[in-house]
Amino acid sequence: MSNFETSVLYGGTTINYGVIFSARKTLGIQVYPDGKVIVRAPNKTDVKVIYNRVKQKSAWIIKQQNTFKSNLVLSTKKTYLSGENHYYLGQSYPLTIRDALKEKISLSERQFKIETRKPDDADHIKKRLRMWYRREAERIFTERYNDCIQSAFKIGIEHDLGINVRVMSKRWGSCSKRGKIILSLNLIATPIVCIDHVILHELCHLKEFNHSAKFYQLLRTLEPDWKQKSTQLDMMGNVYCV
Ligand SMILES: [Zn+2]
Repeated sequence: MSNFETSVLYGGTTINYGVIFSARKTLGIQVYPDGKVIVRAPNKTDVKVIYNRVKQKSAWIIKQQNTFKSNLVLSTKKTYLSGENHYYLGQSYPLTIRDALKEKISLSERQFKIETRKPDDADHIKKRLRMWYRREAERIFTERYNDCIQSAFKIGIEHDLGINVRVMSKRWGSCSKRGKIILSLNLIATPIVCIDHVILHELCHLKEFNHSAKFYQLLRTLEPDWKQKSTQLDMMGNVYCV
């Protein structure tokens, strides 16, 4: 039986969950820091049994998600002071902030060097950094997109609309029915392989507009180890943000 994603409605809340089958004995539900719900089930477990279990545990799942959400706010509150670490392509770099007449941001092997007229103004530095990240995101995501559409083309997926970058806090990317692909600015903090993973995921939605077994089959042909990247993004969700 192949893994799949689906959802259950509890009160007014939709709980999305992924199911992973393996040779285990019991059914386990796990809520990750980014709110993702994963059900690990013994091979051949009836999907109805899984659905009922998730439904039964809904209140607990929502409580866990809310706890993570409040922790997330705390852990991602950045100070924009010298020495604070910021991520770029999966690596963290400390900020070095200097008083200067001209605004400039540069990244070396060791640090983010920020020269600014307002070294003590966190909002100002945040804005400068965001602009820098956005420029990098547009450049790098476009490069990766151009590579990814070539692989996707080989399995019959065509797309030429490019990508759009947005500030999104809860998702890494999305694909509309019309094929508009949006990538989260936060992806620029993740390793290149994770950026590719999200682009390939969204490209697969052009053929399978869902998270069915067929969708994952398609994704697997493009990216056999997609699960590893997906888990990395789940686990690092509150660290990989800009
Ligand atoms: Zn998707």
